Amino acid sequence: MTATIPQQLAAVQARIETAARSVNRNPATVKLIAVSKTFSAGEIRPALDSGHRLFGENRVQESQSKWPELKSAFAGVELHLIGPLQSNKAHDAVALFDAIHTIDRLKIAQAIAAEMAKQEKSLELFVQVNTGEEPQKAGISPLDAASFVAHCRNVLHLPVSGLMCIPPLDEEAAVHFAFLAKLAKELELPSLSMGMSGDFETAIEFGATHVRVGSSIFGHRDSQPTP
Ligand SMILES: *Cc1c(COP(=O)(O)O)cnc(C)c1O
Repeated sequence: MTATIPQQLAAVQARIETAARSVNRNPATVKLIAVSKTFSAGEIRPALDSGHRLFGENRVQESQSKWPELKSAFAGVELHLIGPLQSNKAHDAVALFDAIHTIDRLKIAQAIAAEMAKQEKSLELFVQVNTGEEPQKAGISPLDAASFVAHCRNVLHLPVSGLMCIPPLDEEAAVHFAFLAKLAKELELPSLSMGMSGDFETAIEFGATHVRVGSSIFGHRDSQPTP
């Protein structure tokens, strides 16, 4: 017997609570972003029916094909963009999403600032940090993070609230989570987007406020590898 999506969602939520309590954190301070990329509106509905409202997607165009319909059917949906963003998609991203986790270069920061002003909409924003300094991975280099965040805040007046990272696959995630938490503290940023299906409990130990969990909820994806 395979578990249903609502059952898997509840199981992940229970693991989040246990992980939070184990380090004396209030479980309510950890938000579960159910990552629904590659899954259809029909596959996402059971999660919405069960009451979950916070979802993550990694592509703007794919999201546009399913979320307008789901947002009008279910009140209170909060949608987070967790994948790389191109500046020509900034308009659509600001229009559809409530948060962006992948502010990773000046051009994107500028495009988002301009769109938020134009659309008179404020989004929750995270700066993605390439903690493993992997050449193929998006994100600001750790050495540039402080000046980049300062520029976003002071010059672009962007409401940056946190940092996000995707640790290298072949390294101990804990080291990267600890590093990101320390950096966020230094920069006085309250939010930390870190932890996926394989490591969200570890991320919670190190202070994650937003965990991004896909396959443990929706099952195996056969397309689109994790960036
Ligand atoms: C796909 C994805 C996730 C979720 O990954 P799972 O291992 O399926 O939980 C989290 N974060 C980002 C940035 C992703 O692209």
